[in-house]
Amino acid sequence: MLGNYVDGEFVTSERRFDKLSPVDGSRVAVVCEADRALVDRAVAAARRAIRGDWGRLAMAERAALLHKVADGIERRFDEFVAAEVADTGKPAAQARTLDIPRGAANFRIFADLVRNVPTESFHTDTADGAGALNYAVRHPLGVVGVIVPWNLPLLLMTWKVAPALAAGNAVVAKPSEETPSSASLLAEVIHEAALPPGAFNLLHGYGPDSTGEFLTSHPGIDAITFTGETSTGSAIMRAAAPDVKAVSFELGGKNAAIVFADADFDSTVDGVSRAVFANCGQVCLCAERIYVQRPIFERFVVALGGKAKALRIGDPHAATTDMGPLISRVHREKVLSYYQLAREEGGHFVAGGGVPELCSPLDEGAYVEPTVITGLAESARCVKEEIFGPVCHVAPFDTIEQAVALVNDSRYGLAASIWTRDLRTAHHVAQRLEVGIVWVNTWFLRDLRTPFGGVKLSGIGREGGVHSLDFYSELTNVCVKL
Ligand code: NAD
Repeated sequence: MLGNYVDGEFVTSERRFDKLSPVDGSRVAVVCEADRALVDRAVAAARRAIRGDWGRLAMAERAALLHKVADGIERRFDEFVAAEVADTGKPAAQARTLDIPRGAANFRIFADLVRNVPTESFHTDTADGAGALNYAVRHPLGVVGVIVPWNLPLLLMTWKVAPALAAGNAVVAKPSEETPSSASLLAEVIHEAALPPGAFNLLHGYGPDSTGEFLTSHPGIDAITFTGETSTGSAIMRAAAPDVKAVSFELGGKNAAIVFADADFDSTVDGVSRAVFANCGQVCLCAERIYVQRPIFERFVVALGGKAKALRIGDPHAATTDMGPLISRVHREKVLSYYQLAREEGGHFVAGGGVPELCSPLDEGAYVEPTVITGLAESARCVKEEIFGPVCHVAPFDTIEQAVALVNDSRYGLAASIWTRDLRTAHHVAQRLEVGIVWVNTWFLRDLRTPFGGVKLSGIGREGGVHSLDFYSELTNVCVKL
């Protein structure tokens, strides 16, 4: 049974729910749902921690504790991998190389960064000639509510928890109801690292009318950092409005890739295939719109379709598996409904379009075929709306102007990738795309110091490096008359 972690203790609750495996439908865990009273307790404990032992720690002591958390994640590495795979069905190889190492790295980078980021200082002229000195000091925001989705559970939770703690805040975090396991292990690791009680609290539960809503509307929360769907961000913004809480949002996307005719063909097919199908298409950065310059369009579509058909779907623990299931049967229904819609809208299926035939017990899972579609109008819902599955639409373009206009014709603006050998084209296009992140000849290559976030419906604010610290702290300017 997975309990909540409040004020340094693991506590159960009466309301419980089953977490089911997307691999075979079996029960992974019974999870304790935090009710309003437990949310109150967690928020109160967090406030006490800031005013007490946690708030009194020197920055270096805080940083040392966060390093201990990173060490703890690495010490229990295999358990984290097993937890992440059990909840999501993602290939164990991916959890080993991406999700769990990034969980530990997030604690290390922010523990180090907080000690090395300066604040600003200005000398001000005054009429008497003596001047004044201004300097800024950083303070924690207070109690931060952290709400994260299921696609990269540990990675995304630690991406927020680590900088929030590094900046001296106390945290009340809620993982997705679909992925409670790695967050519970994180609570154990934080407990073992002996962070003062209340500095980190973990609550399980759903969103609306449950733990998520109780937390985001709680008057004792000073700020909310959220990653998830745009519509959820909108609901959370409403919940945050009465207290004018600070919000940081990483939301949905409908990301594009632009493939120019001069691109290195084979490495581009590989790269775009990864951008479409990684994590079964369930990365906010995944590309669902591929625009290919006309001279290589037909050849590229055939090659990408071939990649999709070659992906080995199956047991996430098998070394040969490239792609696991979607997160749940419910999400599969959503993805399949878009496949159906694409058929009705006149799309041509180059690859996939249905459910793969798998043997028992995987036939009880949430598997779906990797899918490549062509021939849809740009106004089609499958080209406009985020599907969040292993699927893309490929369309031709002729000129740079056209490619830029196609990519920017979206209500979202998270990420894009450009594939070309011509660096002049790459820089020119990169700077004209209405997105927060552009990759050139690669995808999802991350330096954790760089700004990460989206424009338009894809989010508010930036995370990463100093940008995270800026959100998780308040600056006070001190003006001293000399
Ligand atoms: P979701 O919005 O359904 O849920 C995310 C979290 O919010 C969960 O913990 C959920 O319980 C909680 N929640 C739901 N309703 C709530 C409410 N009313 N109040 C408070 N909490 C609530 O998203 P999801 O389906 O878990 O994740 C997929 C989405 O996340 C996709 O849209 C994807 O693009 C987005 N995403 C964005 C980024 C990014 O960095 N921009 C990264 C990963 C995922």
